[in-house]
Amino acid sequence: MTRLIFLGPPGAGKGTQAKTLAQYWNIPHISTGEILRHAVRELTPLGIQAQSYQERGELVPDQLVLDLMQERLSQPDTKSGWILDGFPRNLTQAGFLDELLQKLAQGCDGVVNLEVPDEVVLSRLLGRGKKEGRSDDTEEVIRRRLEVYRQQTAPLIEYYRDRQQLVSVNGNQPPLDVTADLQKVIDS
Ligand code: ADP
Repeated sequence: MTRLIFLGPPGAGKGTQAKTLAQYWNIPHISTGEILRHAVRELTPLGIQAQSYQERGELVPDQLVLDLMQERLSQPDTKSGWILDGFPRNLTQAGFLDELLQKLAQGCDGVVNLEVPDEVVLSRLLGRGKKEGRSDDTEEVIRRRLEVYRQQTAPLIEYYRDRQQLVSVNGNQPPLDVTADLQKVIDS
């Protein structure tokens, strides 16, 4: 059973790595960013409320994301484990997750921090914007996402380090090497 949180700046490779490992372990990869983008495309009530925040690189209001995660983590497929990618993203969300996991009688096995220098993240995201056409991958919005990360999400590194749940992995290497390092630290 594996229950992991992936932390790291936008463009660190959380999505790629989380997807690979979740497939390997046959557990759900839960990406709040993907769930929200899907809701935006489908024009669901959640998507309609989330769209303007996501397009500006701001965090979607906590209540929307908390409801979404409560519902997602209550699905039967999460019994076998999960990888959370993009959640929690601030201290309020982290506190909510603690309570939710307690209610669901689930524990988190560890928090992985994927470390990548700022300038590498910026050039990766600018490159991705051209390839995938994500509307929040323009330079202005990317800069805002990095700022939001630093102000609101980075404090979670200390939060989980204090609780001795944090492991760091160098994300500035070829994807297969990052996967190998992740497997090593998660198995140990
Ligand atoms: P990245 O990590 O590259 O920014 P994501 O797909 O994880 O990409 O997130 C994209 C956007 O989705 C964020 O900028 C934010 O607007 C929204 N989002 C994702 N997860 C959350 C969350 N936990 N809380 C609030 N907003 C979120």
